[in-house]
Amino acid sequence: MPQKPIVYDAPTPEPRATTVEALQAQILEKLTYSIGKDPIVARPHDWLAATIYAVRDRIMDRWMESSRETWRTSNKRVYYLSLEFLIGRLMRDAMSNVQLMEPVQQALKNLNVDLGDLINMEPDAALGNGGLGRLAACFLESMSTLKIPAYGYGIRYVHGLFRQEMSEGWQVELPEEWLAHGNPWEFERRESAYEVGFGGHVEPVTDPDGLIRQEWRPNDHLLAVAYDTPIVGWRGARVNTLRLWSAQPIDPILLDKFNSGDHIGALEESARAEAITRVLYPADSTPAGQELRLRQEFFFSSASLQDIVRRHIQQYGDLTSLPDKVAIQLNDTHPAISVAELMRILVDDNGMKWADAWKVTKGTFGYTNHTLLPEALESWPVALLERLLPRHMQIIYQINADILGEARNRAKFTDQQIANVSLIDEHGGRRVRMGQLAFVGSHSINGVSALHTELMKQTVFADLHKLYPERINNKTNGITPRRWLMQCNPGLTRLISDRIGPAFLDDIEKLRGLEAHADDPGFQSQFAAVKRANKERLARLIKDRMNITVSPEALFDVQIKRIHEYKRQLLNIIQAVALYDEIRAHPERDWMPRVKIFAGKAAPSYWNAKLIIKLINDVARVINNDPAVRGLLKVVFLPNYNVSLAEVIVPAADLSEQISTAGMEASGTGNMKFMANGAITIGTMDGANVEMHKEVGADNIVIFGLSTEEVEDKRSRNEVPRTAIDSSPRLSEALESIASGVFSPDDPHRYRDLIGGLYDHDWFMVARDFDSYWDAQMRVNALWNNKPKWLGMAIRNTAAVGFFSSDRTIRQYAHDIWNVPTA
Ligand SMILES: *Cc1c(COP(=O)(O)O)cnc(C)c1O
Repeated sequence: MPQKPIVYDAPTPEPRATTVEALQAQILEKLTYSIGKDPIVARPHDWLAATIYAVRDRIMDRWMESSRETWRTSNKRVYYLSLEFLIGRLMRDAMSNVQLMEPVQQALKNLNVDLGDLINMEPDAALGNGGLGRLAACFLESMSTLKIPAYGYGIRYVHGLFRQEMSEGWQVELPEEWLAHGNPWEFERRESAYEVGFGGHVEPVTDPDGLIRQEWRPNDHLLAVAYDTPIVGWRGARVNTLRLWSAQPIDPILLDKFNSGDHIGALEESARAEAITRVLYPADSTPAGQELRLRQEFFFSSASLQDIVRRHIQQYGDLTSLPDKVAIQLNDTHPAISVAELMRILVDDNGMKWADAWKVTKGTFGYTNHTLLPEALESWPVALLERLLPRHMQIIYQINADILGEARNRAKFTDQQIANVSLIDEHGGRRVRMGQLAFVGSHSINGVSALHTELMKQTVFADLHKLYPERINNKTNGITPRRWLMQCNPGLTRLISDRIGPAFLDDIEKLRGLEAHADDPGFQSQFAAVKRANKERLARLIKDRMNITVSPEALFDVQIKRIHEYKRQLLNIIQAVALYDEIRAHPERDWMPRVKIFAGKAAPSYWNAKLIIKLINDVARVINNDPAVRGLLKVVFLPNYNVSLAEVIVPAADLSEQISTAGMEASGTGNMKFMANGAITIGTMDGANVEMHKEVGADNIVIFGLSTEEVEDKRSRNEVPRTAIDSSPRLSEALESIASGVFSPDDPHRYRDLIGGLYDHDWFMVARDFDSYWDAQMRVNALWNNKPKWLGMAIRNTAAVGFFSSDRTIRQYAHDIWNVPTA
């Protein structure tokens, strides 16, 4: 029987006061009674924890209220399943969203503590690699802002994305320890623990009513324990839960073994279980392919589904209503095994008929695709799935039989088309394609920008799209304007508010009102002053961390993102080399000072990406120390790119580099952060750049390079890149100097193969886009030399960013995919 433990009218505690006095008293109280420290001996970390506890209390009141409301109203819940949440710091976000920045700052000041110091001390929760994980974090905040009852589900990695240090210009990976001082934001929920099984076998059992059903008997079990973090929306609209799973052994210690003297063996089970949630896989846009990764995927999918089903049954009693009350969004294919797991729960555990279960499953799931790169699409060997998840493999076969039957009988597909839609890839060893599984198990499949969605229909999912033409839709990514404008750039936020009023804080499309002021000299100079202050702050950070002096007068030309060949940091650094040559060859010209700023991590196993980091550092050393450059060009690689560093760099950028090979960046979200903060984009017609170009207008963005079709055409004709190089003396000279060791005298051949690849195949079109990129950079120079023109463009970028708010994205998901109302 479903149990309804809810007493809707239960008395609730008085909400906490938010005055300076109350906050001050409570921070002291937390320090004493929760942390056990006297103010006289308290360390900065103790003050940080005490402050977080005091802020958290103010959020708890709304958290309870939000949850109570969903139980009372029976509103539909949204579950966002993601193997990554790139959260960053939470304290400023939370304080700002509930309007506590000023009283907390004052309360701490009265206690002789600086809020800014505490903010910078909070660990940066990096439970993700890049854009995909950051999108999940922006979405959580927007779902709370739009009052959608939602849960994020993921993994509580003990070690998030590695810490990056430089050793003689090479990337070195160090373990990241975000939990070293504990995590005052989270609540451990021992009572919300589920068993997750692996391995074993499947046994047919006969029910009392004579029906035969399959029962999975795993031989390996562990426990998923929930840790909850509150996520508060703008103006405290609602507080949702981010529930992260931690793996623990069923038996923490095997006493038999311990007592017989095998002290290490006694702990083996514990170590094996905890290994599952110990580390985040550090590869972005490439599947890790190891068994532990599949275990992570199933572990968090299974725990999340058990939790969702338990909550649904508790409130509604049966599972046929699941699609009416539950929407589950799969963030890429990492949680795609959920499709088979929900089928198993419905059919095997709850005795639902196969066809009914399939309807419920499709009605519940939506799937977001994040990449088209064929090599990046996840698949698992059939043999591995059979060993680890034997029942799921059977279910996948049965789903596949149904789909292929439909393809043959209804759609009259050819053998080739049938092979294309099959869940099993028969090339080489047999593998299960997780993209196909997620597609067929969902009623909605979305891409993340208009271009990417179109390409999806033409490439990876072309035949599935023919079979199910109504399923694919587009949801262009967005960013939360709270973190990426209001919190990271309070100066600009204040300026905008003074000029057009504060309504944009609640309706970001109102930023369009700035367009009327874009050419106003008075506003331009205020806008420039804000940018200048942000650049001074970044210049100080560069001085402190790198001991490099950069002038805030210079153009700050910024490329910060994961290091990947398709993102083409190589194109940017080759342009720096060409510029270096040109400055020395033509010292008489009127050069403008430029600082090229890079940051980003490379996957530890991605050799070329790591070599590109080394190249940037080698080039930086030479250029920064050459007196002939006269400071007109500087190159800086800032180590350990993460959300917190982005929050300092983005508001200080003049130029935003979004220069991926057309057709390869699904959307990008970094591009939107820069746009919000009044940087001008130099970019290709790729991902969401296409829509930025449309929103801001062709005059306010600098576009260059081959189009998606031209790239495709050149690739299909196997065109030789050498001609592009031979016909460009500027490019040839730059490539020769890099390849011959001008920047690596200690190892002259270091870059021979990297540069050789450009002559040989140039898959990413670096050589063939170079001249066009160079010309675009010269257009940037001309614009920069015309300050009123530049500032007008910059202001128009901020004015046009409204469409790229994750509030808009989430509204579209809510209305088109989840069928839930929004505020
Ligand atoms: C926004 C963001 C990204 C994504 O950047 P792209 O330029 O879209 O690749 C990656 N990492 C961090 C830390 C971010 O904040």
